[in-house]
Formats: sequence, structure tokens, C-alpha cells
Amino acid sequence: MDTFLKWCDDIRASAKRGSLKGFEVRTNADQPEDAKRAFAFGAQGVGLCRTEHMFFDKDKLIHFRAMIVADTLEERKAALKEILPLQQKDFFGIFKAMEGRPVTIRLLDPPLHEFVPHTLEETQELAEFLKVSVESLQPKIDRLHEQNPMLGHRGCRLAVTYPEIYNMQVEAIALAAAECISKKIPVQPEIMIPIVITARELKLLRPNAEAILKRVFDKAGVKLHVKIGTMIEVPRAAIRSGHIARYADFFSFGTNDLTQMTFAFSRDDVASFLPAYLQQNVLDVDPFKSIDEEGVGWLISYATQQGRAVNPDLKVGICGEHGGDPLTIDFCYRAGLSYVSCSPFRVPLARLAAAQAVLNNKPKADKKSTVKKPAAKKPAIKKAADKKTA
Ligand code: PEP
Ligand code: MG
Repeated sequence: MDTFLKWCDDIRASAKRGSLKGFEVRTNADQPEDAKRAFAFGAQGVGLCRTEHMFFDKDKLIHFRAMIVADTLEERKAALKEILPLQQKDFFGIFKAMEGRPVTIRLLDPPLHEFVPHTLEETQELAEFLKVSVESLQPKIDRLHEQNPMLGHRGCRLAVTYPEIYNMQVEAIALAAAECISKKIPVQPEIMIPIVITARELKLLRPNAEAILKRVFDKAGVKLHVKIGTMIEVPRAAIRSGHIARYADFFSFGTNDLTQMTFAFSRDDVASFLPAYLQQNVLDVDPFKSIDEEGVGWLISYATQQGRAVNPDLKVGICGEHGGDPLTIDFCYRAGLSYVSCSPFRVPLARLAAAQAVLNNKPKADKKSTVKKPAAKKPAIKKAADKKTA
């Protein structure tokens, strides 16, 4: 494996692109074992640590369920306080596994709806835990039901309405990072906010996160800069990227949702009509496998250009399933992205594809796109951004 990775790096070096760090392959991992495996396969960081699966651990789930049916802020905070040390342990494990490489932790994304008790047994268990009757609990559970939860109360919308959820997660990240530093383990956390649609969401949430990081680090006597960025996975966010970049250190394209929302194709039903539809040659690619350059790719390219026009240091990556696809990796390199992120077992192929992308495309200045420029008139981002931030 080491020889293979060196070979990939040598290919890239021979393409004379300058910095080998210019185009990286990271991994999507939310368990230390996956992170370790991906690291051994050559992952240069974690590009997406989904935190939702962590909440399904039995010891956290009961407290999280108590949190979502709580009536008061005090009750919600008390329930989250029980989860805090467990989240700290989760993050510490992943930071340790990555030995100082960047680890992008995505704050909670799925709708609250997903965490509610789904069976009578689960409702009874929660009622017993809270020492209330099932009858009094049921209406609170019913209230959380949504017809279209994936278009509902999820991602940063959760933090807009319940700031204490992200506050707890950011505190856990800060505590885990401080713990690493106290144990002389190198650490490089990054915080990623999902389902952003307006700059104002970030303008609201970013200072909260910064204040918590500062409080924890000051108390621990730690100096550490933590990047705070956003996923771009809703077309509106791509369109408003020039404004959003004012509050983001990085963008990561969530191409699973971005594809779903751009095409209005359900990502959860790809086996339904899509195979027969695609056979009729109405699209260039299966958009859930490779980036469709004319639509989703256009948005990626546009958002990257607009974001960097406002924030030239903006790091830009991709963390949807497409991140492991060679055609997409070639596209990402041409679009000037900084990294791709994919599941651990796809990392070796992605490293090879990344090396090939460098070789296949003429040497050029770092971060310059060779993807056909989006045809839209270039908006005067700076001026507009000064007026409005949404
Ligand atoms: C995405 O939407 O591409 C993404 C990475 O997030 P998730 O798959 O968890 O929705
Ligand atoms: Mg998503």
C-alpha cells in the first residue's frame, strides 16, 4: 500500500502542479476503526464525519429522545449534558486515529423526526425513563411527525430553533481537541454546518460556535484554530455562495442532496424508474454516480468561483458519494477543488484517480478552474454582499 501511495504522489509530482497538498483525498468516516482503515489506505484527512449515527447508540438515544420531547430549555440542556461526555469520547477516538490530519465533523443533520420512538415498546421505554405516562407522551411525539422530513426540520435549521444541540456538539469537539493536546496527540478539527441555505444562518451560528471554542480552549489553556465551514447541498446555497463564503472557511459539496434537490430525483429510490429512464439516453451520466457537469457540476463550479471571489482562501471539497468516482474526481480537479472525500474502501482508487486527474489535465495555477465557466453574468458579489447577507 505504501508503495502504491508513493507512486500516486510521484505521478502528481511529475505533473509539476506545485504543491502535492493541492488536491487531496479524504475519507468519510464516523468511527475510529473506519478512520484508521482509511488512513492506512492513504486518506489525507476525514472530509465528512457524520455525527447522527453516534446518537443511535443506546446510551445516547434515550437522552436524545428525552431532549426532543422536553418542554423547557432547562430540560433540553439537562438531557444534552448527559450526551456531552459521550460525544467527547466519540470525537477523541477519531482525532486520535487521524494523527493530526484534518477531521471535518459535521454537526447534526437529520430531521428530529428520525429520532422519535417508532414503536409502542420504544414509547413505553421513554415514558418509563421520564416517569410519565404513555398517554401524556404520545402527543409530543406526534407533534414531531413531518410529511417530508428530508425537506423539513433538519440540518442547521435544528440549530436555528434549538441552538443547544449544536452548542453541545461544538463543546464536545473543543473538549476532545483539548484532551488530545493535553495528551500530546496532534489534532486538527474542522466544524461543518449542514443544509445551509442563507448566509444569515451562518452569521447567526458561527459566533455561537466560536464563543464556545474560545471558552473551552481558554479554560484548558489551549491555543488552536478550528475552521468553521458549510456544506453546499441545496441549490439555493450554491446560488448564494458568494454571500455564504463571507462566513465560511470552507465549502464541502454534499452531492447526494445537491443531486436530489437539483434533479428532483429521490436519492432513496434510485432503483425505481431511474435505470429504465437512463437507458433512453436522456442524460449523459447517471447523476447519482458521476457528476452531471451541465447541472450539478455547473453549480459546483459556480459556487467555487463565487465563494473564492469573496474569500480567496476558501477550501473547497466534495463529500457526497461522488467523491470516490474517477470521472467526478477529474471534474473536481478541473473545477479547482481542494479535495474529494469518499468511503474508506474507495480511497485507494480515489488516490489513483486524483493522480490521473493531475496528469490528464495540463499544469495550471493552483485553484484555477478549467471547467467551462458558468454562463451567468458575474454578479458584483462584494457590493451585493455589503447590502444583503441572505
Ligand atoms: C450529501 O448530501 O452529499 C452528504 C454527504 O450528506 P448526507 O449523505 O449525509 O445527506
Ligand atoms: Mg446531505
